[in-house]
Amino acid sequence: MVVQCPRDQWMFDCGENVQRQMMQAKVSFHRKMKIFITHLHGDHVLGLPGLLQTMALMDRKEPVQVYAPKGLKEFLLCAKETLNFGLTYTVEINEILSEGIVCDEAEYQVIATKSNHAIASYAYAFVEKPRPGKFYPKKAVALGVPAGELWSKLQRGEEVQATKGNVVKPSDVMGPKRPGRKIVYTGDTKPFENFGKFAEGADLVIHDCTFDNSLTEKADTDGHSTPSQAAAQAKAANAKKLVLFHISARYPDASLLLEQAKEVFSKTILAEDYLELELPLNE
Ligand SMILES: [Zn+2]
Ligand SMILES: [Zn+2]
Repeated sequence: MVVQCPRDQWMFDCGENVQRQMMQAKVSFHRKMKIFITHLHGDHVLGLPGLLQTMALMDRKEPVQVYAPKGLKEFLLCAKETLNFGLTYTVEINEILSEGIVCDEAEYQVIATKSNHAIASYAYAFVEKPRPGKFYPKKAVALGVPAGELWSKLQRGEEVQATKGNVVKPSDVMGPKRPGRKIVYTGDTKPFENFGKFAEGADLVIHDCTFDNSLTEKADTDGHSTPSQAAAQAKAANAKKLVLFHISARYPDASLLLEQAKEVFSKTILAEDYLELELPLNE
């Protein structure tokens, strides 16, 4: 799963087939990239050594940051030494030791919370920081601020001096801050208690949905969720949209799972390869 922003891309989990999928989906191997691994099961992490090696063969220069539970560093070092490959760029490995903000950038942050799987695992929330409020040119003119550089200053959050000498604050000419967008990615998980709070108001929840409702017991044993459980989690979070993913290969047609989820949460869709969703800005 890749989140593409204007300047960066953020990858969540990195399964075996990732390089081919990136090529098919035209995801760049050279852009700024951070990779977040939920847990150290093969289907979530085995693509990583190959991807890092390929990026070196492509002479990548931009560093890559990887965030993962403890153990990933050893796994990657072992692969790198055994396969004897060099890198043309820096790989920063950040092992996550506790819940909270794991990555904080100017415009976005990523928050981790423990999920409920067979081994140590984290779910991630990708949270865009609030955007400045709407700018009202008429208000600015009325307060004696002419169009031009002073408007830009106000929009950047700076106070300015108007023509009559009075001070005009950004809040005099701008609306309230606009909320950023939020995407929650669970990796493999059973339902867990604080999910509603963690994912509150998410524009998009991408949730484990491995087995249908008739296999609830198996889902529980294996540390996975059913459609009803995934939907209840999205509902508890007041999410705007739910995407079911990590669907077992036993379902060549997963429409049964979609129906079961929709009974609880109607705004649900099924993930499929190369599915692209655009999240509009919140006004
Ligand atoms: Zn797993
Ligand atoms: Zn898995």
